[in-house]
Parts: sequence; structure tokens; C-alpha cells
Amino acid sequence: MNKMAFYKITYGLYVITSGQDGKFNGQIANSMFQVTSNPATVAISINKENYTYGLIKLSRKFVVSILSQSAPMNFIGLFGFKSGRDVDKLQNIKTKTGMSKVPIVLENTVAYIEVELEKELDCGTHTIFIGNIIESDIVSSEEPMTYAYYQQVKGGKSPKTAPTYVKAEQAAARYVCSVCGYVYDEVLGDPGNGINPGTKFEDLPQSWTCPVCGADKSKFEKK
Ligand code: FE
Repeated sequence: MNKMAFYKITYGLYVITSGQDGKFNGQIANSMFQVTSNPATVAISINKENYTYGLIKLSRKFVVSILSQSAPMNFIGLFGFKSGRDVDKLQNIKTKTGMSKVPIVLENTVAYIEVELEKELDCGTHTIFIGNIIESDIVSSEEPMTYAYYQQVKGGKSPKTAPTYVKAEQAAARYVCSVCGYVYDEVLGDPGNGINPGTKFEDLPQSWTCPVCGADKSKFEKK
């Protein structure tokens, strides 16, 4: 079995929110798809260890916010690499309440779908939740984010097709965040946080932190 084949599967990137009675959370997921159009049904795959998993089981509803390509790393990091058990992820995020009464994330969102849970399928580490769409709308005309775009462009890796790829990748060092797996690539820098391309890792200010999870420089290891 060549597991590299799995990397050819295409995905989007979503924030899934759920909860009830003032207890809400959101998390990043890439596995969401429309199952049928009549009735309009979608499925998501959620890790059982996630806080959001418990909230979906409890409230039997969830909202999918489809992220835009311009969604910044710290936004994805907040929902993807922090736990709702430790922080209130929705505290400083623009949301609205719709039919489901679950907060709908409006920041960096191109469209949202509100879902009532219909069925679930136990898949070991994950559960597939299948539900009926009760409401949906477009939020912006921006391009939706794909998982490939997130990994290749946002994740600090040059696309293989970039003309500078071979030369630049060999000359410059890359450092991996041991907390979340983000790669700091000296070729690319971290322009989203004011770090110019070509900035050496040792020249990063001490105040610089992982743009995804917020870990400090000491958590990075040379690749
Ligand atoms: Fe990190």
C-alpha cells in the first residue's frame, strides 16, 4: 500500500461549531461532504477525543462554516490547534445565531450550513455524523480554501511547481513546530506576521511565535 496516494484526495477546510445552553465550541475539519441533495444532507468526520465531538452528541446539531482562501494562520490555529476545554475559542470571533441556535462563525467564511443530526456511524477513532441541512447562506464571494492550498501555501511549503523550489529549498533551513507541525521555512519567512522572506530562524525576534498554535521559538526543531 502506497500511503502517498492518500495525499491525492482533495478536501476543503471548515470550522464546525456545536453546542447548546451557552456551552459552544468550534474546531477545524477537512472531512465534510454533501451526501444527497434531496433531502439536503451532509456528513462530517470528527475525532472522538475532540471537545466538539461531545457537543455534537449532546446537542444533535452543528454548523459548518466554509473557510475562505484568505483565512489567516492564527485563525486556523485557534480552531485547529487549541482545545475548547482550555479556551473559549468563540470569545473574540464574529458570529451570529441562526435556526440551529449554534453560533455561526462569520469571519473568514464564504458560506455556512446549519445541520440537524440524523445518523451517526462509529468508525473507531472517529464518528461520521450525517445530518439534514436546515438553513444555509452565502457570506462572501471569496474563493473557498482547499486543504491543499492550506498545506502548500499557508503551511510554509513551496509548491513543487514554484520555479525557485529546488535551489531555494536546499539552501535554506526549515524548522518544525513540535506542537502543531507548522514548518517555518526561511525562504518564505512569515509575511503574515511581518517576517520577510529570507529571514533566518535565529534572526526571528524572541517575541515571534508559531503562527498556527502560538508556541514560542524554543518549541521548534531544525528539520
Ligand atoms: Fe505550532
